[in-house]
Amino acid sequence: MRIILLGPPGSGKGTQAALLKERLSVPHISTGDLLRAAVKAGTPLGLKAKAAMDAGELVSDELVLGLIEERLGQADIGGGYILDGFPRNLVQAEALDTLLDRLGQPVEKALELTVDEEQIVRRLAKRAAEEGRSDDTEEVVRNRLSVYHQQTAPVTGYYADRNLLIRVDGMGSIEEINQRLVDALR
Ligand code: ADP
Repeated sequence: MRIILLGPPGSGKGTQAALLKERLSVPHISTGDLLRAAVKAGTPLGLKAKAAMDAGELVSDELVLGLIEERLGQADIGGGYILDGFPRNLVQAEALDTLLDRLGQPVEKALELTVDEEQIVRRLAKRAAEEGRSDDTEEVVRNRLSVYHQQTAPVTGYYADRNLLIRVDGMGSIEEINQRLVDALR
């Protein structure tokens, strides 16, 4: 199964992707995770990405597309994939389509987790306390949400236009939401 997970920061994409990955036995590819690993390893790409990440802005399309192209070029995506945190704007969505067409692995479903804003802010504050992610401070969270509304929300329309979008209620327990996603994939 070839899936994209969409939804605002804090909507639970990472948590749900980890569960779906086990269930579907396909790799979970998160651009946020790939970028954080690059920052931690101190690679040139990581050094270039860090300032944007810490400010809650999008990392440049050039860097992210290079990263995703390299990752999707690996053999393990032959059985499918779960993309999380990508594409995050329309330029990335179009570039992804081109890349996946070339690989013969087009997207089958785009699942959007919908969560109300109040819940998001609460979840991210909790994660900040637990994980200490440097971009989970209140000001940066607010900026990430505004970037989401301006740049990423139109991506759901892109997949809706292609009849690939399924909206899934992202409110409730982790298990409940997982079950809704599994049902949506049937
Ligand atoms: P969240 O789901 O909480 O927004 P992510 O782990 O997906 O967190 O992303 C963290 C940060 O990494 C983003 O705020 C952004 O700076 C950067 N990032 C991740 N994916 C992309 C992408 N596809 N394009 C540009 N920047 C990205």
